[in-house]
Amino acid sequence: MLEKYLSKVNFNSYDDFVQNFKLNIPENFNFAYDVADEIADKTPEKVALVWCNDRGEEATFTFGQLKEYSNKAANFFKRVGIKKGDRVMLILKRRYEFWFAILALHKIGAACIPATHLLTAKDIIYRNNAADIKMIVCVGEDEVIKHVEESLEQSPTVMAKALIGRDKEGWYNFNKEIENESSHFERPTGKDATTNDDIMLLYFTSGTTGMPKMVAHDFTYPLGHIVTAKYWQNVIDGGLHLTVADTGWAKAAWGKIYGQWIAGSAVFVYDYDNKFVPKDLLDVICKYGVTTFCAPPTIYRFFIKEDLTKYDFSKLKYCTVAGEPLNPEVYNQFYKATGIKLMEGYGQTELTLTIGTFPWMEPKPGSMGKPSAGYVIDILDENGNPCEVGEEGQIVIRTDKSKPIGMFDGYYRDTELTKKVWHDDIYYTGDMAWRDEDGYFWFVGRADDVIKSSGYRIGPFEVESALLEHPAVLECAITAVPDPIRGQVVKATVVLAKNYSPCDELVKELQEHVKKVTAPYKYPRIIEFVDELPKTISGKIRRVEIRNKDQAKK
Ligand code: ATP
Ligand code: MG
Repeated sequence: MLEKYLSKVNFNSYDDFVQNFKLNIPENFNFAYDVADEIADKTPEKVALVWCNDRGEEATFTFGQLKEYSNKAANFFKRVGIKKGDRVMLILKRRYEFWFAILALHKIGAACIPATHLLTAKDIIYRNNAADIKMIVCVGEDEVIKHVEESLEQSPTVMAKALIGRDKEGWYNFNKEIENESSHFERPTGKDATTNDDIMLLYFTSGTTGMPKMVAHDFTYPLGHIVTAKYWQNVIDGGLHLTVADTGWAKAAWGKIYGQWIAGSAVFVYDYDNKFVPKDLLDVICKYGVTTFCAPPTIYRFFIKEDLTKYDFSKLKYCTVAGEPLNPEVYNQFYKATGIKLMEGYGQTELTLTIGTFPWMEPKPGSMGKPSAGYVIDILDENGNPCEVGEEGQIVIRTDKSKPIGMFDGYYRDTELTKKVWHDDIYYTGDMAWRDEDGYFWFVGRADDVIKSSGYRIGPFEVESALLEHPAVLECAITAVPDPIRGQVVKATVVLAKNYSPCDELVKELQEHVKKVTAPYKYPRIIEFVDELPKTISGKIRRVEIRNKDQAKK
């Protein structure tokens, strides 16, 4: 399958990879037919999806079965009036029906809007109207149903809604409906066929800094994730890959379908409804023999607090991490316990894997790695000039020669916002970093999170990493608090590890610790202990929330 889309598949060095990687983009590429169905036709018994939940239920789907189910679902969507270009929202958590539905929508050419189950009625109204959503398919849970139903009065475009595995008045029962449909679905032709410019997916960003933005991706997007899966996550043909992500986030597109299947790996899904329990996740990784694993740093931060020597990781070959900066301490402890080097990657909902530590590279703990093939990356200072080695600036992507395959087309129906971040052939990521003499990129913080105190610029990541080296600290967030004299002072909001409790001595000890391991001016003058950090649903620390709260106190 890879040979179909790449001029060269195997590379012997990072330089070979960035210089010779070339994607061949077919006309009217449609992932559902050209990848999923094609594998189904050639090898119907090949495993596509291995699924289990936290109640002991399990299921395995072959490509042959997925072709059948997605055809049935496509016939159902068509019957209720979904056509090419329509928009359908999926609130399906990690239920396996998500894969039937998304493939079906790709087949029809309708734009799919995966969303999280934690949306309130207000959030759903916003999305329904922002995207003129025509249909909603969701999990059969009371809370989700309630929010969707409450949104309807103010959502004039929604004309159908379906539930997974449940009968309810006014709703289709998705499972029953598709059961009765034909398992044959003809690929549309002529004006009904999808083109490479059509919108395939609309994703909301995580909302780490503010209101989530709606990111539009066209039908070539899955091909951009060949790099994500094959050359960064290093998935194995015939292997089993697990990316920890809810289907409502772009991270699911990074790790639960496109690149993995093109590269021949099955996708593993652990559908847990209750709170994340590190031990349970570790158990399923071992039990099902996950071969490659990808998760945000927060998952690894919890893993290293478990006794990892108790687990048999013999099947697990490769681990990647992205979504937030990875603190070197976490890298080191995970390596010590498992012998596996965490390979970091950087990207956004707007992009595919943009900077990464690739298999040919030796990871530098704390660094994201080097630019990905297809991305022309620079670091610019405040005046728009390229930074020198070691100098801090904003990560940008130059698109004057071409737009990387997989990069978004813009924020949906918001040209103003699109222009704000992407103009004169430069896309501004909003993230600050510097580059070392070997070309490795080091994350400093989001442009909005960088602290200016007494004339110094302080990146939160470095201070957080310093604090995490102290055994008392489980998680922490560094933010600025306004100060009449210094402009801003550094504050640490800290979640303590088991067996530690807040006290003045500990505050002193943590401050001294930071002064010792990093430049003393960066130490947190204020330390607050909390039980939990404010996070996005995808698990990212929302420093903005801490800042706003402190601001309100003033
Ligand atoms: P919003 O744009 O709504 O505030 P978000 O930026 O968190 O939310 P995503 O697209 O999910 O939404 O996340 C992309 C961001 O995550 C990047 O811009 C960067 O700030 C952060 N990020 C991703 N990978 C890394 C990494 N390896 N190191 C540091 N930061 C990372
Ligand atoms: Mg963002």
